Amino acid sequence: MTTGVLLDPRFNGHFMGPGHIECPERLEAIEALLKTELDFSPARIAARPASAAELARVHAPEYIDFLSRTRERAHTPLDGDTAASSLSYEAALLAAGGTIEAADFVLAGPGRNAFALVRPPGHHAERGTAKGFCLFNNVAVAAEHLIRERGLRRILIADWDVHHGNGTQNAFYARDDVLFFSTHRSPFFPGGGGWDEIGAGDGRGYTVNAPLSAGKTDGDFLFLYRNILGPIARAFMPEFILVSAGFDIYAGDPLGGMRVSLEGFAGLASELMDLAQETCGGRLLLVLEGGYHIDGQARAVREVLRRMAGTRAAPDIRADISITTQKEITPVVDVQRAFWPL
Ligand code: ZN
Repeated sequence: MTTGVLLDPRFNGHFMGPGHIECPERLEAIEALLKTELDFSPARIAARPASAAELARVHAPEYIDFLSRTRERAHTPLDGDTAASSLSYEAALLAAGGTIEAADFVLAGPGRNAFALVRPPGHHAERGTAKGFCLFNNVAVAAEHLIRERGLRRILIADWDVHHGNGTQNAFYARDDVLFFSTHRSPFFPGGGGWDEIGAGDGRGYTVNAPLSAGKTDGDFLFLYRNILGPIARAFMPEFILVSAGFDIYAGDPLGGMRVSLEGFAGLASELMDLAQETCGGRLLLVLEGGYHIDGQARAVREVLRRMAGTRAAPDIRADISITTQKEITPVVDVQRAFWPL
């Protein structure tokens, strides 16, 4: 595989205040590790600002205008835990536009995948509001680009961040061209993401939520990806797979409460690579969302990238779930069985 990486120092102009866990050090640590401890040379993808038209496919024009005005002040609170610095708008434009560029890099394949290491993250951002450290919904903007500009008809978005991707779900809730699959802790920020949220109208069955209690292991996640997402994706046959890759399910994350190891992340990447290989010629783009253990996240990103490039093998993890997890996913399978071969 030819594996691309997008990482731009201008993402770190986005700064929400001293002590905020969604901080520039997240990307600085990743960049430092990739410079010195990566066993292949990724293709570098250049960021560029998303255009107003590209953003307007997902976000309200008034919201884009509002965010553009945050450039005029050193600090603008956006919601209880989200803020903009004077350079946040530029970073957010570059994150969304860079994710589009990364999608185009993969599409120019064959044999290409990529990881967009962006800040600010995106999956909580709604049509008209910032939320949960997110300004523009990078993944949703890229999905819309692939559909409207590149003519793709079916996009799968898998979201393994510990938090539910409310913004992404809402962007495509009534549509059958974007399938949204989310595993997340529940009850937890931002609320929602229940198994009974399955989409509306034409979109019924195209939103798949697996709410989970804390403590989920590599085996649990592997099982969910292999046995729920797997059959659904093979029936849906996406033409491109986007991943909201949140590293707040890492075992050492100060916030998430999940127990995924570095091996586990490589295993999740493997599952998605296999699905992409089976359905869409390997087209796979990971996009960074949350993840707050600075060093653990950097090492997990490295293992994922090594797996994507093929310099490390798929880890040998048993896709095995606890009785608790079995109970939690039973309603997911029951409700989705009306739409998918589960
Ligand atoms: Zn998160």
